[in-house]
Amino acid sequence: MLLLKIAEGAIATHDRRVLAAIMAVVGLMLGSFATVLIHRLPRNENFIKGRSQCPSCKEPLAPIDLIPVVTWLFLRGRCRHCKARISVKYPLIELTSCYIAVSVINQHGASIASVVLAVSCIGLAITATIDALTRRLPNRAIITIAIFELIGFFADALVNDSWQDFKRGVIIAILATVVALIFYFVSRGGLGEGDVKFAPIVWFPLGWLGWGAAFGAYLIAAVIAVIWTIVFGVLQRRVRKVSIPLGPALALGAIVTIIADFSWKAGV
Ligand SMILES: [Zn+2]
Repeated sequence: MLLLKIAEGAIATHDRRVLAAIMAVVGLMLGSFATVLIHRLPRNENFIKGRSQCPSCKEPLAPIDLIPVVTWLFLRGRCRHCKARISVKYPLIELTSCYIAVSVINQHGASIASVVLAVSCIGLAITATIDALTRRLPNRAIITIAIFELIGFFADALVNDSWQDFKRGVIIAILATVVALIFYFVSRGGLGEGDVKFAPIVWFPLGWLGWGAAFGAYLIAAVIAVIWTIVFGVLQRRVRKVSIPLGPALALGAIVTIIADFSWKAGV
């Protein structure tokens, strides 16, 4: 409790620009971790042990090879050893993660809850990217985010007495799961099992913000899903039996809502 108070004090007394700068670095590091996860999780490789290596020449990467964005720019997108091209998606993922962290802090100010919101958004983005690439929502990622959100918002409630927000977050997370379950049974496979497990960790932070945010994100996700279905349908020439990963639509709806803070505008 004392530690939490000190943490909140350290966060809240600082200018939000200072916190935004710190979170920019955290965002870059999480983005860098994300590229490792996105590469290893679908292959069931251990992502804690084992050093990163060049996928092409298998040369282990030194710490100097792992500085987000900077290394890629400095080496002009090539491996230091074998000169194989390193995909531009790596620095892009790192920059996106950095952008999400800074935008959320700018929108929601300096508090423990803002940091939790920012990191949750990045977690959702990583999980959704894995879903888009592999059509799988890994349980380990979902459980990690769920525990992080619970502990994070609980800590904020302890320090800032935001129990109202915490309770609303839990209620909306449960509601979202029930709605997802109904869709799952009604659509008979249109909505995947993974999406049902994804719903509570997407709607907990939204619920923490308010009912407006929860509904706003739901609408945005629905619009994105419809557009995707049409685009994928045209591409695959079978609009009726098209199947798309829903995770990215849900995550994108939540991230856009949290960054734009629709809850505040709806006044809920
Ligand atoms: Zn190499």
